[in-house]
Amino acid sequence: MQGRPLAERIRAQVGEEVRGLGAIGLATVQVGEDEASTIYLRLKHEAASEVEIASVDRKLPHTISEDELLAEVAALNADDSIDGILVQLPLPDHVDEARVIAAVDPVKDVDGFHPFNAGQLYLGRPTHVPATPLGVMALLDEYRINLDGARAVVVGRSTIVGKPVAHLLLQANATVIVCHSHTDDLARETLDADVLVVAAGVPEVVTADMVKSGSAVVDVGINRTEDGLVGDVDPDAATLAAFVTPVPGGVGPMTIAMLLQNTVRAAKYRRGLLAFPGARR
Ligand code: NAP
Repeated sequence: MQGRPLAERIRAQVGEEVRGLGAIGLATVQVGEDEASTIYLRLKHEAASEVEIASVDRKLPHTISEDELLAEVAALNADDSIDGILVQLPLPDHVDEARVIAAVDPVKDVDGFHPFNAGQLYLGRPTHVPATPLGVMALLDEYRINLDGARAVVVGRSTIVGKPVAHLLLQANATVIVCHSHTDDLARETLDADVLVVAAGVPEVVTADMVKSGSAVVDVGINRTEDGLVGDVDPDAATLAAFVTPVPGGVGPMTIAMLLQNTVRAAKYRRGLLAFPGARR
């Protein structure tokens, strides 16, 4: 399951929508100089500019206080030229991450991390949904992987990937098992998976002998090792599985494409072209 061709197509569609909608703005907020965050943000800004989404990159010092950061977020909430806001995580220890995420206007929350949007997903009424899980679902759809009645196993329960992807799979009528670091016998769960989504951040936590024959395996992991970027799944799993996403080139490109799509969605909410639940405006 290659991510790049589908991501390219989605980006082209987003470009057309942006031209139809007029000026759209995306703001990112980065606190400190985490190297991986800087790389991800650069890719996001390049992708935004390619589809003519105006992007603003707020780089703030590591020493910023929580109140100052909240004031930055409030200013972006109030800025009418900004449709989407993304606060790059992690934030420094002296800042309450949950408080900052909750301060983002839910309509502009293109990451889908705000408790309102997370709650909407939990309730089965997806509004803004995190980009990576959306990318996983789009890939499964693109490759026509049957989810209805399928046994889907998710390895990882983070709020960014594992939990939202489990909800989306459940909403697609899969029978969903969520595994984590306390799961007693991981292989026992993964071997039964028709669809296996792995987001643990542990290189090769899923080895080839842990994969069901003929299954679809989505490797979300991005791990920097001496051998370069590797996923969470041993690439040899491809000998048994019917579909495996490569790392890099699988879920990664999809995440960026879905972020752009979420930004267009936010612009539509803000222009009344889509109804934002709860009629907050
Ligand atoms: P995270 O917040 O660290 O969560 C990791 C999850 O994996 C946790 O729920 C943890 O369990 C579980 N886990 C860890 N070791 C395990 C093991 N040995 N067996 C079973 N479960 C285990 O990470 P994340 O943000 O979800 O990211 C996961 C991976 O995806 C990372 O490699 C990250 O870089 C990558 N990622 C990629 C993209 C993309 O665009 N491709 C986007 C986001 C993240 P506990 O809850 O018990 O600790």
